[in-house]
Amino acid sequence: MTKSRSIFWHRRDLRIEDNIGLYEASDNSRYLIGVYILDPKILDQNRTTSEAKNWFLGESLLELQKNWESKGSRLLILSGDPIKLIPQLADLIKAESIYWNKNIEPYEINRDKQIIDKLRNEKRKVYTFLDQLIVSPDKIKTKNNEPYKVYGPFYRKWINIINTSKILEDNSIKISSKPEKIIGLDNREILSIKSSNLNYCIIRKSDSIYDLLSSNRFRTTNTCPCRPGESGSIKQLNFFIHSGGIKSYNKGRDIPSLESTSNLSAALSLGTLSCRAAWNGAQRAKNIATDEYQKQSIDTWIKEIAWREFYQNALINFPELENGPYREKWFHFPWQNRPDWFEAWKNGLTGIPIIDAAMRQLKNSGWMHNRCRMIVASFLVKDLLIDWRWGENFFMKSLVDGDLASNNGGWQWSASSGMDPKPMRIFNPFRQASKFDEDANYIRKWIPELSHVSTPNLLSGEIINSERKGYPKPIINHKIQTSIFKELYSNIN
Ligand SMILES: Cc1cc2nc3c(=O)[nH]c(=O)nc-3n(C[C@H](O)[C@H](O)[C@H](O)COP(=O)(O)OP(=O)(O)OC[C@H]3O[C@@H](n4cnc5c(N)ncnc54)[C@H](O)[C@@H]3O)c2cc1C
Repeated sequence: MTKSRSIFWHRRDLRIEDNIGLYEASDNSRYLIGVYILDPKILDQNRTTSEAKNWFLGESLLELQKNWESKGSRLLILSGDPIKLIPQLADLIKAESIYWNKNIEPYEINRDKQIIDKLRNEKRKVYTFLDQLIVSPDKIKTKNNEPYKVYGPFYRKWINIINTSKILEDNSIKISSKPEKIIGLDNREILSIKSSNLNYCIIRKSDSIYDLLSSNRFRTTNTCPCRPGESGSIKQLNFFIHSGGIKSYNKGRDIPSLESTSNLSAALSLGTLSCRAAWNGAQRAKNIATDEYQKQSIDTWIKEIAWREFYQNALINFPELENGPYREKWFHFPWQNRPDWFEAWKNGLTGIPIIDAAMRQLKNSGWMHNRCRMIVASFLVKDLLIDWRWGENFFMKSLVDGDLASNNGGWQWSASSGMDPKPMRIFNPFRQASKFDEDANYIRKWIPELSHVSTPNLLSGEIINSERKGYPKPIINHKIQTSIFKELYSNIN
């Protein structure tokens, strides 16, 4: 094969290390440049992204740009519609081949089909790779060759494929090495791109990337536990492995105040870390684990990585999930959708301490602990009787790790509208608080005005008026609301 002039298009793979498509592109190209496109449809702050996520993206692009330069080439940042920009760029630099890693979201799949058609019509070669999942979705099928709808059997198949396939070497997954050197275009050609009408953006810390990405800057970067950039993600993985977080995950993962989960969700979603690196990190932790409890904890963490793959498989196989409930009858649920209750929920002012602590964590850090995501989601749907899609959308507009597949999966699981057939999963927020925040440390951290209140009262929510200091009374009664929910649910059956 003659080596070509090529473009590598970064999307949810903002790294140089273990990037399958980039490795192939650099191996098969004589000249190679990278491109990232700020696609307004993906950066829509009313629907698909948040200030926190844009901050993570901007910082990660800055590092990626430096990494490309250190290899000898460049990463161009363009802004606009990729359906136009990718073919225009290919034309401008006379690229023969275009490489990228595939995505699984319906918008991106449709968009990419159009781009592939255009490029092939112009006689260019397109090479796409599966990089963001450990196991290819084509391989995870039931005996009847159907996609899995329930996590348990999916997981058993997923782990069996990994353990029995050739991708493993001493329990580690082979990874693509990073390109040592990339030969880029000469300065004259780069100048011609800059002066073209391609909407070329320069990213410097002080520059306009943040204005492009976000009208309001994300200001609470210190409280956000997810660290952006390829190097930040690797450090975070190593910290999780060596600080003991992964070895005590079985207990620690459910206690929000311990802050002992990996915080790698944004890194895995935007691809500053590969899923294979996460798996290999877990295997390294197993090699230094000293007892059975530690090994089991590591296996539990791997099961979380499998949840991520489960929801991505769900979206690939059932793209209609994006538009609403998987289970038809949920379309008929008579939501009450009270705007004042929704505002109280969003702002951490429901008067129920564990709910408000969690929502304030989200507001002030762009992230929320998994246990709390489940509690606040159940509360929105089964206590406030608000359509889960409102919550799903608010999470996407707030989370640093907002990810269509995992977010939709998490909401449909909590609402009981998804593939898992357990409809009456109702979380009692007071019992959840007593079990998972027994000393009320998490509540006190995020609701400082209540720090003087006794632990039992914070957990039960029974706070006397003189101790409230402006903190609201509960907006609903859990027992009454959930019995209304059950009644309404039984009527849609
Ligand atoms: C209502 C709701 C909404 C959610 N929205 C998102 C979202 O937008 N983006 C997102 O990445 N996760 C989402 N989750 C899943 C989960 O809450 C986060 O992945 C997790 O809290 C991230 O923290 P961590 O990186 O410390 O996770 P860890 O506990 O360290 O887990 C490791 C990794 O496994 C994956 N993972 C863990 N739990 C889940 C899960 N239940 N579903 C899918 N993947 C999982 C994540 O990639 C995570 O980084 C949601 C869960 C719920 C209940």
